[in-house]
Amino acid sequence: MQESAQVRVAGFSTLAKIDLHTHSLKSDGRGSPRQVMQEAKAAGLDIVALTDHDTVAGWDEARAAARELGLGFVPGIEVTTRSAETDSHGVARRFTTHLLAYFPDPTEPNLRAVLDESVASRLTRLKAITDRLAEDFDLTWDHVLEVLSDGKVAGRPAIADAMIRRGLLETRDPFFNLVRPGTKYYEPNRGVPNTIDAIRLIRGAGGVPVIAHPMARGNGPQPGEPMPRAGFEAMIEAGLAGFEAHHRDVAPHVSEWLQQLAFEHDLFVTGSSDYHGTGKQNRLGEHLTDVSVLQKIMDQAGVAEL
Ligand code: ZN
Ligand code: FE
Ligand code: FE
Repeated sequence: MQESAQVRVAGFSTLAKIDLHTHSLKSDGRGSPRQVMQEAKAAGLDIVALTDHDTVAGWDEARAAARELGLGFVPGIEVTTRSAETDSHGVARRFTTHLLAYFPDPTEPNLRAVLDESVASRLTRLKAITDRLAEDFDLTWDHVLEVLSDGKVAGRPAIADAMIRRGLLETRDPFFNLVRPGTKYYEPNRGVPNTIDAIRLIRGAGGVPVIAHPMARGNGPQPGEPMPRAGFEAMIEAGLAGFEAHHRDVAPHVSEWLQQLAFEHDLFVTGSSDYHGTGKQNRLGEHLTDVSVLQKIMDQAGVAEL
């Protein structure tokens, strides 16, 4: 008897609910890796990826929890990269691109070095921002270190929290305005690879690179404006596998264009929540990835089961 035509991934059916982008407190999410898996189970998901920023520190705990809960686990990393492009008005701009890397070998030396550097440079960056803020606010690096000693991740929210503790701010929101690019307090994260190098790096570590929330939050052409095709084609040339076209921050016209581009180049598109815990609006499973797409990711990574 032949197997049914149904696509099955490691025992999961075509109807499996798959969310390929979540965060734990190993980066900037709220819950422990175990909690994220429990919340995923409660949300009715079947397969979940943990994709903390620039770290694999949550994988073991998440994998063990997923196993106990009967969830399929996909190990991932959301790698911070830097892109540069010339826009349709001839203006050069630099921006951050997040790359989701699925099933990379975290012990591969080149990938390891880049992740370590990324994490180390984060502290340097926070210190630089804090020192500039200290010129105008009653804030010192020690205040930020205090927040970090509570187990907070070395990201800008740690400075915001230090300022809130000092009574300098009431909420985090105005902080991000204060330190955005172009302001006197801004400092870029310098230990970050460029996007093309990072795609090659992820492939070199056996991983499958997918651009997270491309051109999210209006950070791209408006409807009717030309799309940055050349930039994306360079990434495809370097080994890009797909686009996270289904994500709450990706506008409909951008999503449609990405799906067309993926089709033309035989790439795939994913969908996911980018869950950061109960504090943010993103709900687990609000966008999903097709089981046949996960199968492609596993095939490219040479992974037979979850
Ligand atoms: Zn995040
Ligand atoms: Fe992201
Ligand atoms: Fe994310």
